[in-house]
Amino acid sequence: MEKVALNNGVEMPIIGFGVFQIEDEAQCEQAVVDAIEAGYRLIDTASAYLNEAAVGRAIKRSGVPREELFITTKLIIQEQGYEEAKKAFEGSLKRLQLDYLDLYLIHQPLGDYYGSWRALEELYKEEKIKAIGVSNFYSDRLIDLIQHNEIVPAVNQVETHPFTQQIKSQEIMKEFKVQVESWGPLAEVKNNIFENELLLDLANKYKKSVAQIILRWLIQRKVVVIPKSVHKERIEENINVFDFELDESDMKQISTLDTEENLIVNHRDPELVKTFGEIKYDI
Ligand code: NDP
Repeated sequence: MEKVALNNGVEMPIIGFGVFQIEDEAQCEQAVVDAIEAGYRLIDTASAYLNEAAVGRAIKRSGVPREELFITTKLIIQEQGYEEAKKAFEGSLKRLQLDYLDLYLIHQPLGDYYGSWRALEELYKEEKIKAIGVSNFYSDRLIDLIQHNEIVPAVNQVETHPFTQQIKSQEIMKEFKVQVESWGPLAEVKNNIFENELLLDLANKYKKSVAQIILRWLIQRKVVVIPKSVHKERIEENINVFDFELDESDMKQISTLDTEENLIVNHRDPELVKTFGEIKYDI
């Protein structure tokens, strides 16, 4: 399994399995079992996905030693703040049936995320988390957090796919030694991504699927990917991307699909900020 080294030396698999929108507990548990069996070692969940317990049961069922797995979860807005984040961490750990996390992320730069970051820094120093990071922090928020705190986030998980490529953000993250991780690598099937002519041509050329072309393109850019699927054959297909390489001209061709805008979620949209601030998750 190809890995990337984070800014604290921790190694993170370059491909993982995401479980957003798998609300059915039995389905989530089975999908994670299938993913681990297919070779995934990184699992990406969040308290807001309400499926940490199912992920925890799948980890137990898989029989794979804990130290071989890389488990990520995230804290949501209603868990923001110094005291709240410490409590949220304990809750996530309990639901996952774990005694440490590999990566703990602040889900969005909303609410008292500075308080949360101080809590995460302490938990990291107490060795309860191998690496701490953020998600959906656009470059301005990321730089501000870095400049006014002690520990630089190891990871920033942001929307990244052919239509939202994050080229400039990735450069900034590189400058600050923050690893970029793609959420929505398959653009959540939006914008007819699987019918895109250029991607279909490349799929024909390399005798791979469109999903594999996209994931391979991200991996060659050193972006960590966490595709989600509830179908065993797709789970297997998505990790089967290490037996071919896109050449430079094809990498460049894909870069022409970039819109330089978010397709799925814009965390600067006032309506969205309002909605996020009002949601009360029954965690
Ligand atoms: P993805 O881009 O991974 O797309 C998932 C969709 O693609 C599903 O509808 C799935 O269908 C379909 N799919 C998967 N593989 C294939 C394939 N090989 N061929 C055809 N269709 C396929 O979207 P996600 O939003 O799930 O993003 C991935 C992960 O990123 C999440 O699960 C979550 O862990 C994380 N995330 C984080 C966010 C954040 O704010 N930090 C926000 C959103 C996601 P099916 O399941 O039916 O196979």
